[in-house]
Amino acid sequence: MTLNFDAKKLAGDLYDGGFRPMFIGGQWVAAQSGEVSEAYNPATGEVLATVPLAGAADVDAAVVAARKAFEGPWSKFTPYERQVLLLKIADLFEANWERLSVSDTLNMGMPISRTIANKRRVIGMLRFYAGMATSLHGEVIDNSFPGEIVSFTRREPIGVVGAIIPWNAPTAASIWKIAPALATGCTVILKPSEDAPLTPLLIAKLMQEAGVPDGVVNIVTGKGSVAGARLAEHPDVNKIVFTGSTATGQAIARAAVGNLKRVSLELGGKSPLIICRDADIERAVPIAAMAVFAHSGQICIAGSRLFVAREIHDEFVGKVADYARSLRIGHGIEEDTDIGPLISARQAKVVEGFISSGQSEGANLMAGGNRLSGPLYDGGNFITPTVFGGVKDDMRIAREEIFGPVISAMPFDTIDEVVERANATPYGLAAGIFTQNLGLAHKLVRRIKAGSVWVNMYHAIDPAVPFGGMKMSGYGREGGTEHLHEYLETKAVWIQTD
Ligand code: NAD
Repeated sequence: MTLNFDAKKLAGDLYDGGFRPMFIGGQWVAAQSGEVSEAYNPATGEVLATVPLAGAADVDAAVVAARKAFEGPWSKFTPYERQVLLLKIADLFEANWERLSVSDTLNMGMPISRTIANKRRVIGMLRFYAGMATSLHGEVIDNSFPGEIVSFTRREPIGVVGAIIPWNAPTAASIWKIAPALATGCTVILKPSEDAPLTPLLIAKLMQEAGVPDGVVNIVTGKGSVAGARLAEHPDVNKIVFTGSTATGQAIARAAVGNLKRVSLELGGKSPLIICRDADIERAVPIAAMAVFAHSGQICIAGSRLFVAREIHDEFVGKVADYARSLRIGHGIEEDTDIGPLISARQAKVVEGFISSGQSEGANLMAGGNRLSGPLYDGGNFITPTVFGGVKDDMRIAREEIFGPVISAMPFDTIDEVVERANATPYGLAAGIFTQNLGLAHKLVRRIKAGSVWVNMYHAIDPAVPFGGMKMSGYGREGGTEHLHEYLETKAVWIQTD
């Protein structure tokens, strides 16, 4: 990809190591304790900025601001006015897309070619929800007393929403939570990951510039165990929308029980990608590789269990390994980088642990598997795209979410067998199928237990199409019209008319 702007210059202009306040009730504030944490560039280890380390008192202040806004002038905004506001935010995102993309690349390592390419998806979400703002409606329901009593439903905003997001796609994850809140008339407190807090603060600036009333969108930077936990348990928060690991999702669901707040959870996965005997191999190889290696495997939908029909297994996996070796690894800000760093030294250690477990359990390391060193890499956490062949279903690398650039390839013999093995996981987020037989594709689609199934493709996400998990990959959906119901309560109204 050739960029038509100077990403490195923009990077130099964006962050200088200085303090970036958080955004509560329309004010730019420090943590009440004065504590800060550092936000890093995972490619270089350089400190980009410091941000407030919010405590429970800061979260409480944000909830007060969000409640006040929910009951204040924001409640008088008509659907049309909310639509106009969302369209204005979309325009501002369009005008600032390069800054948002560079900020994401700097703070979480995703190559600039990818952050830039997410434009349509993110701005599309804002415009999709703008459209939805004016299409919310209840229903008139025929009851058992026609002529005497009319009954109908109203869809009302759920109230104050706590949104907790991971670090791997801060712009998209923020908008996927904020846009439906604005469309429905809710207010929101967003807690970004401590590993990538910077772009959500830029987003808050754009919200302010667009004229979002004070307190409607609040960004609180802090640790999950403190600020996130307080938001999840807070008695005056009506709903938590969470994206992150399954373990944290479980903790949040438990914390939310206190006031029975509504919860939706987008969690982890260990998604199967099934390559049938008749697959178009040349087409499937790069897609299967990038189903994991995009963003160094740090994607919830990574198709990390690669099931390949035995007849083509060796050829196919050999080609995926060749493809892995051809990828360029480097700093995300370089436009020709295919694979950036892992988010942290901690995560790199976890991935190295999985790679050694694959080797010690007897899988065949066909590509990658090592950490890069040298002047370009020493400041960051770079692991080469790794392909294991001969993996057995009971090995750790075939069972657990790695969140790193590791493919575990396994042969299969029959369709019934591969369906059973693909479904033999606690997760159910996504799946992929490659076959030229349409009938077989439909059969597999019906039998695979996953929230998204892609056929002869992978990774597509669209604002209009629901996305989310089955089983321990969570509950609730983002995207599509059903998403908005997660931000609404239904009120039944009865009117005596005779
Ligand atoms: P994580 O669960 O460690 O953290 C996610 C967020 O939760 C962060 O903001 C963190 O501060 C916060 N948090 C941590 N502990 C908390 C607690 N006790 N109470 C409240 N909040 C808390 O996940 P991560 O490492 O940032 O992201 C990786 C995980 O996210 C992977 O498992 C990945 O599959 C998942 N993920 C899922 C999706 C999806 O849409 N299904 C998308 C991206 C990432």
